[in-house]
Amino acid sequence: MTALETTTVGSFPKPDYLLRARARASKGALKAAALRELEERATTEWLRFQEEVGLDVLVDGEQYRGDMATYFAENLDGMEVSGLVRSYGNRYYKKPVIVGELRRTRPISVEWFRFAQERTEKPVKGMITGPYTLMDWSFDEHYGSREEAALAFAGLLHKEARDLEAAGAQVIQVDEPALSARSDELPLVVKAVGLVTQGLDAKTVLHTCYGNYEDIYPYFNRLPVDQLDLEMSNSSLDLLDRFRRDPLKKEIAFGVVDVHSHVIEPRAQVMDRIEKALSLFDPQKLVIDPDCGLKTRTVDEAKAKLEVMVQAARAVKSEHGLA
Ligand SMILES: [Zn+2]
Repeated sequence: MTALETTTVGSFPKPDYLLRARARASKGALKAAALRELEERATTEWLRFQEEVGLDVLVDGEQYRGDMATYFAENLDGMEVSGLVRSYGNRYYKKPVIVGELRRTRPISVEWFRFAQERTEKPVKGMITGPYTLMDWSFDEHYGSREEAALAFAGLLHKEARDLEAAGAQVIQVDEPALSARSDELPLVVKAVGLVTQGLDAKTVLHTCYGNYEDIYPYFNRLPVDQLDLEMSNSSLDLLDRFRRDPLKKEIAFGVVDVHSHVIEPRAQVMDRIEKALSLFDPQKLVIDPDCGLKTRTVDEAKAKLEVMVQAARAVKSEHGLA
């Protein structure tokens, strides 16, 4: 890995033309092929932007996804999707329901991965919604056991990961925002994620959103991935002290911009966060990225945050002679 490699967590906001098109498509006023064309246009625009700004590892930006769990649910046999359910805050989403034995009859994310990877020389991350999160965010009317359901998802997602790898993915990220939902289930997270990542040659990454890191911490080194991708800035880097006492034995992707805030951080502030990360982590094992997916920001805010982030990483690299 290059020193202070830059990347993003996965999702980007959808441009206005795509939001309008999705609304029309949901009412049946726009054909699937026409929507697909606009999703491809938005994906291509985000790829160009990531190249222009100078990110090292790219993402497809998830322009074709609504909710990250629902997208996978819609593509698995044994699942249905409910009407709108309220989750945290004012976020509404369609809740996946497990109604029968889970089966994956075709690859889910591979086609979009290929679409993106064919359009850039830079590596594009394969993106999988994690087995624990899919289980935790779904109603289960079939398995009757959280462990059984999570492990069923894990088996299918392992095949998805294998297919991503076969399609050329050098990095595969497993998103587990629900990881901190119940600390008594952390051993299950370790087991389920391990089933997904076992035997892969690609670099594996686990992203989780800010939660009760104090309880999760003892599991960080046990999570069977090469890199942990953590939300650091939203919590004022309070996890750094914990890392100082109990070193992380894998790569870290360190969030240096807060995705929950409209404010574009000044470059000096982002550089300061990177410097603090560098005081603890080997630059070859330190990835610089935003705290989380940027889909809740506007297109302009997301772009501005990424510009500042890449400029700050470059400045710190040259100050330390790492360029
Ligand atoms: Zn997150």
